[in-house]
Amino acid sequence: MKINLISDTVTKPTAGMLNAMMTAEVGDDVFKNDPSVNALEEKVAKMFGMEAALFFPSGTMTNQTAIKLHTQPGEQLICDKYAHVFNYEGGGVSFNSGVSCRLLDGQRGMVTSKQVEDAINPPDFYHSPLTSLVCIENTTNKGGGACWDIEELKKIKAVCEKHGLHYHLDGARLWNALVAKKEGPKQYGALFETISVCLSKGLGCPVGSVLLGSKENINDALRIRKIFGGGMRQSGFLAAAGIYALDNHITRLAEDHKKAAEIGTELASLNFIKKVEPIETNIIIFEIDEDFMSSENFNSKLAEKDIHIISMGQGKLRMVTHMDYTDEMHNYFLKTLKRL
Ligand SMILES: *Cc1c(COP(=O)(O)O)cnc(C)c1O
Repeated sequence: MKINLISDTVTKPTAGMLNAMMTAEVGDDVFKNDPSVNALEEKVAKMFGMEAALFFPSGTMTNQTAIKLHTQPGEQLICDKYAHVFNYEGGGVSFNSGVSCRLLDGQRGMVTSKQVEDAINPPDFYHSPLTSLVCIENTTNKGGGACWDIEELKKIKAVCEKHGLHYHLDGARLWNALVAKKEGPKQYGALFETISVCLSKGLGCPVGSVLLGSKENINDALRIRKIFGGGMRQSGFLAAAGIYALDNHITRLAEDHKKAAEIGTELASLNFIKKVEPIETNIIIFEIDEDFMSSENFNSKLAEKDIHIISMGQGKLRMVTHMDYTDEMHNYFLKTLKRL
């Protein structure tokens, strides 16, 4: 029994999802003629109470498109030092948009409105880059699946309005935050100018992300997506998986969260674990006490049992629970941990 906890992106489509894909009605989406893609875009826009949406092949492309929408070359965006847009998008912020990142020293990927306001360059001081965008991530990936306090996000929105900054949410795992905090998508739709959400993480789709925004923003995003090479043809087969996931796979995220919390409790009870970061959703980040066991040794002991996790560097290890991590695997894994 292979247990793969390296990410929630390792899931494979369920029988129900595959059936939805196989029976999808499709057309050519580059001509905006794919009924399934159009239906997905309308559905997501409606969920968030936003005007329009656009289907993308990846979350990286949705974020990069949003950054391109909201900035001009030479400008600067503000984000936490852990942000995916800064750390894990291949330097796309500078490559695609010619923009620099002002990194904030937050807690588990989250910052305060004061930190944001203090980081804005004075617009009349032409020696420094013009600050034009604030990027938020919820849940935070490198921050261990932490969920924001929505009140802080409202305060940051007020700072953005006061200083004329654009406001983007990288919501790759926003679904996890909505379930964990019992919030609704419309609360987020009312806060941000653009939101990117992933269908290929906890929701279990093989491919797909969606960018949300105003009609005008999404119309401009269509051109940028084309430039980035993200126009797809019969992508309705993929959009159908997305529609299926939105209808069937959101509330079940609570099961992933429960399993993650149980793994966290088990880890915390082991004498060779130095630290387990707080667990709010499906991500578990922890450190091994190297006096007892090296993290390489821990990893290889698990790998011998066909259990796979990932290193995040700086001595941190990560596991992510997901749809394909079954109850049976979970019980076996907890038992295995006890016996290491
Ligand atoms: C996964 C992820 C993305 C997008 O990743 P893709 O692999 O390009 O789909 C963006 N932001 C965060 C926080 C993520 O975890």
